[in-house]
Amino acid sequence: MSHIAPNFRKASRDAVLNSQVIAAVRKTANLLSGMMALAVADTPDFEALRDYGRTRKLEISGNLEKYEQSFTANAHAAGAVVHRAKDAAEAARLAIKIAADNGAKTAVKGKSMTAEEVELNEALEAAGITVTETDMGEFIIQLANEKPSHIMAPAIHRSRAQVAELFTDKLGTPPDLSVEALVAAARKDLREKFLAADMGITGGNFAIADTGSIVLVSNEGNIRMTTTLPRIHLAVVGIDKIIPEMADMPKFLALLARSACGQTISSYMSIVTGPRRTGEEEGPEQLHIILLDNGRSRIAKGPYREILHCLHCGACLSHCPVYRAVGGHAYQATYPGPMGSVISPLISGLEIYADLPNACTLCGRCAEVCPVCVPLPDYLRDLRSDVNKPPFTMKLTAFGANTPSLYRLGMIVMRRMLKKGGKGLMAPALKEWMVCREPPKPQEGESFRDWWRTRSHGK
Ligand code: SF4
Repeated sequence: MSHIAPNFRKASRDAVLNSQVIAAVRKTANLLSGMMALAVADTPDFEALRDYGRTRKLEISGNLEKYEQSFTANAHAAGAVVHRAKDAAEAARLAIKIAADNGAKTAVKGKSMTAEEVELNEALEAAGITVTETDMGEFIIQLANEKPSHIMAPAIHRSRAQVAELFTDKLGTPPDLSVEALVAAARKDLREKFLAADMGITGGNFAIADTGSIVLVSNEGNIRMTTTLPRIHLAVVGIDKIIPEMADMPKFLALLARSACGQTISSYMSIVTGPRRTGEEEGPEQLHIILLDNGRSRIAKGPYREILHCLHCGACLSHCPVYRAVGGHAYQATYPGPMGSVISPLISGLEIYADLPNACTLCGRCAEVCPVCVPLPDYLRDLRSDVNKPPFTMKLTAFGANTPSLYRLGMIVMRRMLKKGGKGLMAPALKEWMVCREPPKPQEGESFRDWWRTRSHGK
Protein backbone atom coordinates (compact mmCIF):
# COMPACT_ATOMS: atom_id res chain seq x y z
CA MET A 1 0.00 0.00 0.00
CA SER A 2 1.29 3.42 -0.84
CA HIS A 3 2.31 5.64 2.02
CA ILE A 4 1.26 8.69 0.01
CA ALA A 5 -2.21 9.86 1.07
CA PRO A 6 -4.66 8.19 -1.34
CA ASN A 7 -6.52 10.54 -3.65
CA PHE A 8 -9.07 8.55 -5.64
CA ARG A 9 -10.42 11.60 -7.46
CA LYS A 10 -7.06 12.50 -8.94
CA ALA A 11 -5.91 8.91 -9.53
CA SER A 12 -9.16 8.00 -11.29
CA ARG A 13 -8.98 11.12 -13.50
CA ASP A 14 -5.47 10.06 -14.56
CA ALA A 15 -6.54 6.41 -14.99
CA VAL A 16 -9.39 7.07 -17.43
CA LEU A 17 -6.93 8.81 -19.74
CA ASN A 18 -4.77 5.67 -19.96
CA SER A 19 -6.65 3.98 -22.76
CA GLN A 20 -4.26 1.01 -22.93
CA VAL A 21 -4.82 0.08 -19.28
CA ILE A 22 -8.57 0.60 -19.44
CA ALA A 23 -8.84 -1.51 -22.63
CA ALA A 24 -6.90 -4.36 -20.95
CA VAL A 25 -9.02 -4.16 -17.78
CA ARG A 26 -12.30 -4.16 -19.74
CA LYS A 27 -11.24 -7.04 -21.95
CA THR A 28 -10.43 -9.35 -19.02
CA ALA A 29 -13.32 -8.11 -16.87
CA ASN A 30 -15.69 -8.90 -19.77
CA LEU A 31 -14.14 -12.33 -20.11
CA LEU A 32 -14.42 -13.10 -16.38
CA SER A 33 -17.98 -11.81 -16.05
CA GLY A 34 -19.01 -13.71 -19.20
CA MET A 35 -17.54 -16.96 -17.90
CA MET A 36 -19.25 -16.45 -14.55
CA ALA A 37 -22.62 -15.91 -16.27
CA LEU A 38 -22.22 -19.18 -18.19
CA ALA A 39 -21.20 -21.13 -15.08
CA VAL A 40 -24.10 -19.74 -13.06
CA ALA A 41 -26.58 -20.48 -15.85
CA ASP A 42 -25.26 -24.04 -15.82
CA THR A 43 -25.86 -24.42 -12.08
CA PRO A 44 -29.62 -24.68 -11.45
CA ASP A 45 -29.24 -24.50 -7.66
CA PHE A 46 -26.89 -21.51 -7.66
CA GLU A 47 -29.37 -19.29 -5.75
CA ALA A 48 -29.78 -22.00 -3.11
CA LEU A 49 -25.98 -22.18 -2.85
CA ARG A 50 -25.82 -18.38 -2.36
CA ASP A 51 -28.46 -18.59 0.38
CA TYR A 52 -26.43 -21.30 2.06
CA GLY A 53 -23.26 -19.19 1.74
CA ARG A 54 -24.86 -16.12 3.31
CA THR A 55 -26.59 -18.00 6.14
CA ARG A 56 -23.52 -20.05 7.00
CA LYS A 57 -21.25 -17.02 6.90
CA LEU A 58 -23.63 -15.11 9.22
CA GLU A 59 -23.34 -17.91 11.72
CA ILE A 60 -19.54 -17.97 11.35
CA SER A 61 -18.97 -14.22 11.70
CA GLY A 62 -21.23 -14.25 14.77
CA ASN A 63 -18.98 -16.88 16.40
CA LEU A 64 -15.59 -15.96 15.00
CA GLU A 65 -13.75 -16.29 18.29
CA LYS A 66 -15.09 -19.81 18.89
CA TYR A 67 -14.06 -21.01 15.43
CA GLU A 68 -10.65 -19.35 15.69
CA GLN A 69 -9.99 -21.18 18.95
CA SER A 70 -11.09 -24.45 17.42
CA PHE A 71 -8.92 -23.92 14.31
CA THR A 72 -5.88 -23.05 16.44
CA ALA A 73 -6.27 -26.13 18.66
CA ASN A 74 -6.73 -28.52 15.72
CA ALA A 75 -3.94 -27.02 13.57
CA HIS A 76 -1.65 -27.28 16.60
CA ALA A 77 -2.68 -30.91 17.15
CA ALA A 78 -1.79 -31.61 13.51
CA GLY A 79 1.72 -30.28 14.09
CA ALA A 80 1.45 -26.70 12.81
CA VAL A 81 2.71 -23.69 14.77
CA VAL A 82 -0.10 -21.15 14.91
CA HIS A 83 0.70 -17.50 15.55
CA ARG A 84 -1.78 -14.67 15.97
CA ALA A 85 -1.07 -11.19 14.60
CA LYS A 86 -3.23 -8.37 15.89
CA ASP A 87 -2.18 -6.11 13.01
CA ALA A 88 -0.14 -5.94 9.81
CA ALA A 89 3.08 -4.88 11.54
CA GLU A 90 2.93 -7.83 13.93
CA ALA A 91 2.32 -10.25 11.04
CA ALA A 92 5.37 -8.92 9.21
CA ARG A 93 7.49 -9.13 12.39
CA LEU A 94 6.41 -12.74 12.96
CA ALA A 95 7.23 -13.72 9.36
CA ILE A 96 10.70 -12.19 9.62
CA LYS A 97 11.31 -14.00 12.91
CA ILE A 98 10.22 -17.36 11.48
CA ALA A 99 12.61 -16.85 8.55
CA ALA A 100 15.47 -15.68 10.79
CA ASP A 101 15.02 -18.54 13.31
CA ASN A 102 15.39 -21.01 10.45
CA GLY A 103 18.14 -19.26 8.50
CA ALA A 104 15.80 -18.77 5.52
CA LYS A 105 17.20 -16.47 2.85
CA THR A 106 14.96 -17.20 -0.13
CA ALA A 107 11.21 -17.69 -0.43
CA VAL A 108 8.77 -18.61 -3.18
CA LYS A 109 5.28 -17.27 -2.76
CA GLY A 110 1.76 -18.01 -4.00
CA LYS A 111 -0.75 -15.23 -4.63
CA SER A 112 -2.07 -13.88 -1.36
CA MET A 113 -4.01 -10.65 -0.84
CA THR A 114 -3.58 -11.08 2.91
CA ALA A 115 0.21 -10.98 2.42
CA GLU A 116 -0.33 -7.84 0.30
CA GLU A 117 -2.37 -6.34 3.12
CA VAL A 118 0.53 -6.74 5.55
CA GLU A 119 3.12 -5.72 2.91
CA LEU A 120 4.92 -8.98 3.55
CA ASN A 121 7.24 -8.88 0.53
CA GLU A 122 8.50 -5.42 1.41
CA ALA A 123 9.11 -6.45 5.05
CA LEU A 124 10.93 -9.68 4.12
CA GLU A 125 13.02 -8.00 1.43
CA ALA A 126 14.01 -5.29 3.92
CA ALA A 127 15.17 -8.09 6.25
CA GLY A 128 17.36 -9.54 3.49
CA ILE A 129 15.04 -12.36 2.34
CA THR A 130 14.48 -12.67 -1.41
CA VAL A 131 10.85 -13.38 -2.29
CA THR A 132 9.80 -14.66 -5.72
CA GLU A 133 6.15 -14.58 -6.76
CA THR A 134 5.11 -17.82 -8.48
CA ASP A 135 1.56 -17.06 -9.63
CA MET A 136 1.84 -15.89 -13.26
CA GLY A 137 -0.02 -12.62 -12.67
CA GLU A 138 1.98 -11.86 -9.53
CA PHE A 139 5.20 -12.87 -11.32
CA ILE A 140 4.44 -10.28 -14.01
CA ILE A 141 3.70 -7.44 -11.62
CA GLN A 142 6.72 -8.27 -9.46
CA LEU A 143 8.91 -7.92 -12.57
CA ALA A 144 7.16 -4.63 -13.34
CA ASN A 145 7.49 -3.47 -9.71
CA GLU A 146 3.74 -2.90 -9.49
CA LYS A 147 0.91 -3.77 -7.13
CA PRO A 148 -2.00 -6.09 -8.02
CA SER A 149 -4.86 -4.27 -9.72
CA HIS A 150 -7.46 -7.03 -9.22
CA ILE A 151 -7.74 -9.39 -6.25
CA MET A 152 -8.08 -12.45 -8.49
CA ALA A 153 -6.29 -11.35 -11.68
CA PRO A 154 -3.43 -9.15 -10.41
CA ALA A 155 -2.03 -8.23 -13.83
CA ILE A 156 -5.42 -7.54 -15.45
CA HIS A 157 -4.19 -4.08 -16.50
CA ARG A 158 -1.42 -5.44 -18.74
CA SER A 159 -1.85 -6.62 -22.33
CA ARG A 160 0.01 -9.63 -23.75
CA ALA A 161 2.21 -7.30 -25.82
CA GLN A 162 3.19 -5.34 -22.69
CA VAL A 163 4.01 -8.56 -20.86
CA ALA A 164 6.16 -9.73 -23.78
CA GLU A 165 8.02 -6.41 -23.72
CA LEU A 166 8.52 -6.71 -19.95
CA PHE A 167 9.89 -10.27 -20.26
CA THR A 168 12.32 -9.18 -22.97
CA ASP A 169 13.52 -6.36 -20.74
CA LYS A 170 13.79 -8.37 -17.50
CA LEU A 171 14.32 -11.99 -18.57
CA GLY A 172 15.97 -11.46 -21.96
CA THR A 173 13.37 -13.45 -23.89
CA PRO A 174 12.80 -12.83 -27.65
CA PRO A 175 10.27 -10.04 -28.34
CA ASP A 176 6.57 -10.54 -29.09
CA LEU A 177 6.16 -14.01 -27.62
CA SER A 178 2.85 -15.90 -27.69
CA VAL A 179 0.99 -16.53 -24.40
CA GLU A 180 2.26 -20.14 -24.37
CA ALA A 181 5.86 -19.00 -24.87
CA LEU A 182 5.50 -16.39 -22.11
CA VAL A 183 4.22 -19.04 -19.70
CA ALA A 184 7.11 -21.34 -20.66
CA ALA A 185 9.61 -18.53 -20.03
CA ALA A 186 8.13 -17.88 -16.56
CA ARG A 187 8.12 -21.59 -15.78
CA LYS A 188 11.81 -21.91 -16.72
CA ASP A 189 12.74 -18.94 -14.55
CA LEU A 190 10.69 -20.21 -11.60
CA ARG A 191 11.69 -23.86 -11.64
CA GLU A 192 15.14 -23.25 -10.17
CA LYS A 193 13.74 -20.87 -7.59
CA PHE A 194 11.25 -23.48 -6.36
CA LEU A 195 14.05 -25.99 -5.93
CA ALA A 196 16.35 -23.56 -4.13
CA ALA A 197 13.82 -21.81 -1.83
CA ASP A 198 14.08 -22.17 1.95
CA MET A 199 10.54 -21.04 2.57
CA GLY A 200 7.19 -21.29 0.76
CA ILE A 201 4.67 -18.55 1.51
CA THR A 202 0.94 -18.75 0.81
CA GLY A 203 -2.31 -17.26 1.93
CA GLY A 204 -5.28 -19.55 2.46
CA ASN A 205 -8.64 -19.60 0.69
CA PHE A 206 -10.21 -21.37 3.65
CA ALA A 207 -9.07 -22.47 7.09
CA ILE A 208 -11.05 -25.44 8.38
CA ALA A 209 -11.73 -25.23 12.11
CA ASP A 210 -12.54 -28.90 12.78
CA THR A 211 -9.36 -30.25 11.17
CA GLY A 212 -6.94 -27.30 11.45
CA SER A 213 -6.34 -27.48 7.66
CA ILE A 214 -5.55 -24.70 5.20
CA VAL A 215 -7.26 -25.00 1.80
CA LEU A 216 -5.62 -23.41 -1.23
CA VAL A 217 -6.99 -23.30 -4.76
CA SER A 218 -5.05 -22.39 -7.89
CA ASN A 219 -5.09 -22.87 -11.63
CA GLU A 220 -1.36 -23.04 -12.20
CA GLY A 221 0.00 -25.76 -9.93
CA ASN A 222 2.41 -23.32 -8.29
CA ILE A 223 0.75 -23.74 -4.89
CA ARG A 224 1.64 -27.44 -4.76
CA MET A 225 5.30 -26.66 -5.36
CA THR A 226 5.26 -23.73 -2.91
CA THR A 227 3.73 -25.84 -0.14
CA THR A 228 5.75 -29.02 -0.66
CA LEU A 229 9.27 -28.21 -1.92
CA PRO A 230 10.70 -25.69 0.60
CA ARG A 231 11.49 -26.92 4.13
CA ILE A 232 9.25 -24.28 5.75
CA HIS A 233 5.71 -23.41 4.77
CA LEU A 234 4.35 -20.11 6.07
CA ALA A 235 0.63 -19.41 5.52
CA VAL A 236 -0.73 -15.94 6.28
CA VAL A 237 -4.47 -16.24 6.69
CA GLY A 238 -7.12 -13.70 7.71
CA ILE A 239 -9.36 -14.93 10.54
CA ASP A 240 -12.31 -14.27 8.22
CA LYS A 241 -11.21 -17.28 6.14
CA ILE A 242 -12.10 -19.75 8.89
CA ILE A 243 -15.05 -22.04 8.18
CA PRO A 244 -16.33 -24.55 10.74
CA GLU A 245 -16.11 -27.95 9.05
CA MET A 246 -14.58 -29.78 6.14
CA ALA A 247 -18.18 -30.52 5.12
CA ASP A 248 -18.71 -26.77 4.46
CA MET A 249 -15.92 -26.61 1.95
CA PRO A 250 -17.51 -28.14 -1.19
CA LYS A 251 -20.30 -25.56 -1.22
CA PHE A 252 -17.99 -22.62 -0.60
CA LEU A 253 -15.61 -23.94 -3.26
CA ALA A 254 -18.51 -24.26 -5.72
CA LEU A 255 -19.44 -20.61 -5.08
CA LEU A 256 -15.84 -19.42 -5.29
CA ALA A 257 -14.83 -21.24 -8.48
CA ARG A 258 -17.96 -20.16 -10.39
CA SER A 259 -17.76 -16.55 -9.27
CA ALA A 260 -14.00 -16.11 -9.66
CA CYS A 261 -13.57 -17.37 -13.22
CA GLY A 262 -16.59 -19.39 -14.27
CA GLN A 263 -15.16 -22.80 -13.34
CA THR A 264 -17.09 -25.63 -11.73
CA ILE A 265 -13.94 -26.39 -9.75
CA SER A 266 -10.45 -24.89 -9.69
CA SER A 267 -7.73 -26.81 -11.53
CA TYR A 268 -5.75 -27.54 -8.35
CA MET A 269 -6.79 -27.77 -4.74
CA SER A 270 -4.37 -28.32 -1.86
CA ILE A 271 -5.51 -29.23 1.64
CA VAL A 272 -2.61 -28.72 4.03
CA THR A 273 -2.98 -30.33 7.46
CA GLY A 274 0.21 -29.99 9.47
CA PRO A 275 3.78 -30.41 8.18
CA ARG A 276 5.30 -33.57 6.72
CA ARG A 277 4.79 -36.58 8.99
CA THR A 278 7.27 -39.34 9.70
CA GLY A 279 7.42 -41.68 6.73
CA GLU A 280 6.01 -39.14 4.25
CA GLU A 281 8.19 -38.29 1.28
CA GLU A 282 6.94 -34.79 0.58
CA GLY A 283 6.03 -31.70 2.49
CA PRO A 284 7.71 -29.10 4.63
CA GLU A 285 9.48 -29.83 7.90
CA GLN A 286 7.62 -26.97 9.54
CA LEU A 287 4.24 -25.39 8.93
CA HIS A 288 3.67 -21.94 10.44
CA ILE A 289 0.27 -20.28 10.21
CA ILE A 290 -0.10 -16.59 10.99
CA LEU A 291 -3.75 -15.81 11.74
CA LEU A 292 -4.25 -12.15 10.92
CA ASP A 293 -6.80 -10.04 12.75
CA ASN A 294 -5.95 -6.49 11.58
CA GLY A 295 -9.36 -5.10 12.54
CA ARG A 296 -11.42 -8.14 11.60
CA SER A 297 -12.66 -8.98 15.11
CA ARG A 298 -13.66 -5.30 15.53
CA ILE A 299 -15.50 -5.35 12.18
CA ALA A 300 -17.26 -8.60 13.17
CA LYS A 301 -18.88 -6.78 16.10
CA GLY A 302 -19.99 -3.75 14.07
CA PRO A 303 -22.59 -2.80 11.47
CA TYR A 304 -20.41 -3.83 8.50
CA ARG A 305 -19.89 -7.41 9.69
CA GLU A 306 -20.96 -9.08 6.45
CA ILE A 307 -17.93 -7.73 4.56
CA LEU A 308 -16.01 -10.45 6.40
CA HIS A 309 -18.08 -13.01 4.50
CA CYS A 310 -16.25 -12.05 1.30
CA LEU A 311 -14.68 -15.03 -0.51
CA HIS A 312 -12.30 -12.77 -2.46
CA CYS A 313 -13.69 -14.08 -5.73
CA GLY A 314 -13.34 -10.70 -7.47
CA ALA A 315 -16.77 -10.88 -9.17
CA CYS A 316 -17.86 -7.51 -7.79
CA LEU A 317 -14.75 -5.91 -9.30
CA SER A 318 -15.20 -7.46 -12.72
CA HIS A 319 -18.86 -6.36 -12.86
CA CYS A 320 -18.43 -2.85 -11.38
CA PRO A 321 -18.79 0.02 -13.91
CA VAL A 322 -16.48 2.24 -11.85
CA TYR A 323 -13.76 -0.42 -11.53
CA ARG A 324 -14.01 -1.11 -15.26
CA ALA A 325 -13.65 2.59 -16.04
CA VAL A 326 -10.63 3.31 -13.83
CA GLY A 327 -8.90 -0.04 -13.12
CA GLY A 328 -7.64 -1.21 -9.74
CA HIS A 329 -4.62 1.03 -9.17
CA ALA A 330 -6.79 4.16 -8.99
CA TYR A 331 -8.16 2.95 -5.64
CA GLN A 332 -4.63 3.12 -4.14
CA ALA A 333 -5.59 0.39 -1.70
CA THR A 334 -4.74 -3.31 -1.32
CA TYR A 335 -8.36 -4.20 -2.07
CA PRO A 336 -9.90 -2.27 -4.99
CA GLY A 337 -13.44 -2.28 -6.43
CA PRO A 338 -16.67 -2.48 -4.45
CA MET A 339 -15.43 -4.91 -1.78
CA GLY A 340 -12.28 -2.82 -1.42
CA SER A 341 -14.24 0.40 -1.08
CA VAL A 342 -15.87 -1.17 1.98
CA ILE A 343 -13.02 -3.14 3.55
CA SER A 344 -10.19 -0.65 2.93
CA PRO A 345 -11.76 2.19 4.99
CA LEU A 346 -12.79 -0.30 7.68
CA ILE A 347 -9.26 -1.69 8.04
CA SER A 348 -7.16 1.42 7.46
CA GLY A 349 -9.53 4.21 8.53
CA LEU A 350 -12.32 6.17 6.90
CA GLU A 351 -10.25 9.34 7.13
CA ILE A 352 -7.64 7.75 4.82
CA TYR A 353 -10.09 6.24 2.35
CA ALA A 354 -12.95 8.76 2.61
CA ASP A 355 -13.18 8.96 -1.22
CA LEU A 356 -13.74 5.25 -1.78
CA PRO A 357 -17.39 4.90 -0.65
CA ASN A 358 -18.12 7.57 -3.26
CA ALA A 359 -16.39 5.56 -5.98
CA CYS A 360 -19.69 3.89 -6.75
CA THR A 361 -22.77 4.55 -8.87
CA LEU A 362 -24.99 2.50 -6.49
CA CYS A 363 -26.13 0.51 -9.54
CA GLY A 364 -26.30 -2.59 -7.32
CA ARG A 365 -24.57 -4.95 -9.77
CA CYS A 366 -21.96 -5.99 -7.17
CA ALA A 367 -24.62 -7.25 -4.74
CA GLU A 368 -26.42 -9.09 -7.55
CA VAL A 369 -23.33 -11.12 -8.44
CA CYS A 370 -21.80 -11.59 -4.98
CA PRO A 371 -21.83 -15.32 -4.20
CA VAL A 372 -22.41 -14.71 -0.49
CA CYS A 373 -24.76 -11.71 -0.91
CA VAL A 374 -22.60 -9.10 0.84
CA PRO A 375 -24.83 -5.99 0.85
CA LEU A 376 -22.13 -3.85 -0.78
CA PRO A 377 -24.33 -0.95 -2.02
CA ASP A 378 -25.98 -0.60 1.41
CA TYR A 379 -22.58 -0.57 3.09
CA LEU A 380 -21.19 1.97 0.62
CA ARG A 381 -24.18 4.23 1.23
CA ASP A 382 -23.82 3.88 5.01
CA LEU A 383 -20.10 4.61 4.82
CA ARG A 384 -20.93 7.78 2.86
CA SER A 385 -23.14 8.83 5.77
CA ASP A 386 -20.27 8.06 8.15
CA VAL A 387 -17.96 10.28 6.07
CA ASN A 388 -20.49 13.08 5.69
CA LYS A 389 -21.68 13.40 9.25
CA PRO A 390 -24.13 16.36 9.29
CA PRO A 391 -22.32 19.59 10.22
CA PHE A 392 -23.30 21.58 13.30
CA THR A 393 -25.38 24.04 11.23
CA MET A 394 -27.48 21.17 9.83
CA LYS A 395 -28.04 19.78 13.32
CA LEU A 396 -29.10 23.26 14.47
CA THR A 397 -31.48 23.55 11.52
CA ALA A 398 -32.96 20.14 12.35
CA PHE A 399 -33.45 21.17 15.97
CA GLY A 400 -35.16 24.41 14.85
CA ALA A 401 -37.40 22.60 12.39
CA ASN A 402 -38.50 20.20 15.14
CA THR A 403 -39.29 22.96 17.68
CA PRO A 404 -42.51 24.84 16.62
CA SER A 405 -41.73 28.09 18.46
CA LEU A 406 -38.21 28.28 16.99
CA TYR A 407 -39.52 27.33 13.56
CA ARG A 408 -42.10 30.20 13.69
CA LEU A 409 -39.42 32.66 14.76
CA GLY A 410 -37.09 31.41 12.02
CA MET A 411 -39.80 31.90 9.38
CA ILE A 412 -40.40 35.50 10.48
CA VAL A 413 -36.65 36.27 10.32
CA MET A 414 -36.28 34.48 6.97
CA ARG A 415 -39.21 36.41 5.45
CA ARG A 416 -37.65 39.71 6.50
CA MET A 417 -34.25 38.71 5.07
CA LEU A 418 -35.73 37.57 1.78
CA LYS A 419 -37.61 40.86 1.45
CA LYS A 420 -34.23 42.61 1.68
CA GLY A 421 -32.85 40.50 -1.18
CA GLY A 422 -31.61 37.54 0.85
CA LYS A 423 -28.44 39.32 2.03
CA GLY A 424 -28.55 37.75 5.47
CA LEU A 425 -28.54 34.32 3.82
CA MET A 426 -24.98 34.89 2.64
CA ALA A 427 -23.78 33.74 6.07
CA PRO A 428 -20.59 31.61 5.80
CA ALA A 429 -22.46 28.35 6.42
CA LEU A 430 -24.81 28.98 3.48
CA LYS A 431 -22.37 30.73 1.18
CA GLU A 432 -21.63 27.74 -1.07
CA TRP A 433 -25.27 26.73 -1.20
CA MET A 434 -26.25 30.24 -2.31
CA VAL A 435 -23.63 30.50 -5.09
CA CYS A 436 -26.00 29.15 -7.73
CA ARG A 437 -29.32 29.97 -6.10
CA GLU A 438 -31.45 33.05 -6.40
CA PRO A 439 -33.54 33.44 -3.23
CA PRO A 440 -37.20 34.09 -4.05
CA LYS A 441 -38.79 37.34 -2.86
CA PRO A 442 -41.80 36.77 -0.59
CA GLN A 443 -45.06 37.99 -2.05
CA GLU A 444 -46.69 40.97 -0.49
CA GLY A 445 -49.62 40.33 1.81
CA GLU A 446 -50.16 37.65 4.40
CA SER A 447 -47.88 34.61 4.71
CA PHE A 448 -49.07 31.07 4.19
CA ARG A 449 -48.98 30.43 7.93
CA ASP A 450 -51.10 33.56 8.62
CA TRP A 451 -53.54 32.49 5.92
CA TRP A 452 -53.72 28.96 7.32
CA ARG A 453 -54.33 30.19 10.86
CA THR A 454 -57.22 32.44 9.67
CA ARG A 455 -58.68 29.58 7.64
CA SER A 456 -58.49 27.11 10.55
CA HIS A 457 -60.07 29.55 12.97
CA GLY A 458 -62.79 30.39 10.42
CA LYS A 459 -63.96 26.73 10.29
S1 SF4 B 1 -17.74 -9.00 -1.99
FE1 SF4 B 1 -18.71 -10.79 -2.92
S2 SF4 B 1 -18.40 -10.50 -5.14
FE2 SF4 B 1 -16.95 -9.11 -4.10
S3 SF4 B 1 -15.05 -10.28 -3.97
FE3 SF4 B 1 -16.19 -10.63 -2.07
S4 SF4 B 1 -17.37 -12.51 -2.40
FE4 SF4 B 1 -16.69 -11.79 -4.41
